[in-house]
Amino acid sequence: MSDQMRIMLPGPTPCPASSLRAMARPMINHRGKEFMAMLEGLTADLRWAYQTQNDVLILTTSGTGALEAAIVNMLSPGDRVLALITGEFGKRFAKIAETYGAVVDKVEAVYGEPVTPEMVAEKVGGAAYKAVLVTHNETSTSLLNPLKEIAEVIRRALPDTLILVDAVSGLLTAPLPVDEWDLDVVLSGAQKAFMIPPGLAFASVSPRAWAAHAEAKMPRFYFDFTKARDFLKKGQTPWTPAISLFFALEEAMVLLKKEGLPGIFERHALMARMIRAGAKALGLRLVVENDRYASMAVTGVYPPEGISPAALRKTLQDRFGYVVAGGQGPLTDSIIRIGHCGFYDAADMLGMLAVLEASLTQLGAKIPVGAGVAAAEAELAARTAVAH
Ligand SMILES: *Cc1c(COP(=O)(O)O)cnc(C)c1O
Repeated sequence: MSDQMRIMLPGPTPCPASSLRAMARPMINHRGKEFMAMLEGLTADLRWAYQTQNDVLILTTSGTGALEAAIVNMLSPGDRVLALITGEFGKRFAKIAETYGAVVDKVEAVYGEPVTPEMVAEKVGGAAYKAVLVTHNETSTSLLNPLKEIAEVIRRALPDTLILVDAVSGLLTAPLPVDEWDLDVVLSGAQKAFMIPPGLAFASVSPRAWAAHAEAKMPRFYFDFTKARDFLKKGQTPWTPAISLFFALEEAMVLLKKEGLPGIFERHALMARMIRAGAKALGLRLVVENDRYASMAVTGVYPPEGISPAALRKTLQDRFGYVVAGGQGPLTDSIIRIGHCGFYDAADMLGMLAVLEASLTQLGAKIPVGAGVAAAEAELAARTAVAH
């Protein structure tokens, strides 16, 4: 029995000590010079992370708040939108739009499979959509959608349609050059790859999106982007921000910028490859079988026949202190999800696979003990060989 919990969740994720320590700093005036400098610096850092020249707004809310902000700031009741759904988070985005009175058309993929550019092309030909809602990384199934290709199809058919992207778990885990892909509003959140505790979310807003915002009539108050932009010009946020999380984000950004975007993407890709190779070597089935669409943030795995995800998660937690996520929606009782987005390294993945092997054995599964760790180690060795 371990007394230290290791969270292997797709949010919240572990935080570097420097980020956590920063949160103990005394409060400052959020209408003062020090906060102004911090907000300006962080906004620039976020532009770097988003690879964009667009405005980036920092919201004190969880990721879902950012999704809601995108809907209410861009749309009017009665607007037709197309929702591309590959899992529970895609459904949530669509549900928010419906809640506020949008008329939502849906493209739904089989769970574990992406929405393809072909599926999108079929829908957007000749249709007049105000916006398309798309999930970059679908955390519930552990799937990375082919967003670049999807965005190209949308742009070709509907040059003025807004592309609103849920990248809460996707940003910084896989390439997402916002300007190059011409994406209008891109949402992300603190507790995933940004390596800080939950409570902040980010939204990039393109010129096309600002123009739509000026006409958008959905009700809004706390999340009003006009207020956010006007206050940002003064180096402030409209409402009291989660100042401690801003301190944490400053420290996380120091580490992220030092690593650089290519390094950050490579790290996440390595974590994903290690877990996928390890699970496969143990004879376990992955939710997303095609490597091309594998999430870099989280990996969904089916336990062997006869072992419930709940029992496996309990053993992992009670015996070893490893906390993994369960499934969501229709996958609730069939999978576990191993998070590897944010502050993890190769040793974390090897440890995860070792305790997975031990837990499965404990539960009576006949697995090739050692094969999971060995396969993951081989991925690590291959990467290291390339790097030197
Ligand atoms: C985590 C996550 C969210 C937001 O969830 P919150 O709990 O509101 O922070 C939204 N979309 C995706 C894809 C996510 O992974």
